[in-house]
Amino acid sequence: MTEVCTTPAVLILLGPPGAGKGTQARMLEETLGLIQLSTGDLLRAAVAQGTPAGMAAKSVMEAGGLVSDDIVLQILRDRMDQPDTRRGVILDGFPRTAGQAAALDHLLADTGQGVSLAISMEVDDEAMVARVSGRHTCAECGEGYHDTFKRPANGACDKCGGTEFKRRSDDNADTARQRLAAYHAQTAPLIAHYAQAGVLARLDAMQDIAAVSRDLARMVQPIV
Ligand code: AMP
Repeated sequence: MTEVCTTPAVLILLGPPGAGKGTQARMLEETLGLIQLSTGDLLRAAVAQGTPAGMAAKSVMEAGGLVSDDIVLQILRDRMDQPDTRRGVILDGFPRTAGQAAALDHLLADTGQGVSLAISMEVDDEAMVARVSGRHTCAECGEGYHDTFKRPANGACDKCGGTEFKRRSDDNADTARQRLAAYHAQTAPLIAHYAQAGVLARLDAMQDIAAVSRDLARMVQPIV
């Protein structure tokens, strides 16, 4: 069979903590076959493994600040080098600074690519603090839950039946406020960068998960 060569989609989900980037990226990964690439997940894995990058990132992450561009770009490049990303990627939580956005543009230009679509998931600050503060995930399969908005139906994970749940150490109200401040200072300006590049779409992420997912699927359809 002849392999058809198409340019892989590069989709960016921009938005503050709690906007639903991870939840929606996981759903898009399942439905569209793109690869979710979360720099937050990659950094947490580096922290858990105790790598030099992880050790340097740990205290910054716990304080709700942004890890240095050098560290983030290194782990991103390593992940982008893996063959599965050739199917196209959903960047979740990257880029977060002007330096990261410029580095991404260069990295993609090297292979004749560009950002296909950047979706700004727009939400209300105080609602974000509430969303982030109560969230937790199934330790077995990673399905996301929330103390108020999405509890497992019978105490066990709705998806896999697991009974262990975990919470991120930075998912508390104080750190969430720091993370929001970092978003407004350093990441929100990227919305203008992608608007200027002609690849920006805006999404009302205050809607429920199903409605956000429906809107997102409609926006992403033309690029996959
Ligand atoms: P997240 O899982 O996307 O909420 O990220 C958790 C934490 O990891 C953030 O609060 C930052 O400390 C760090 N982090 C994740 N992605 C980046 C990035 N692209 N640039 C800098 N720091 C990041």
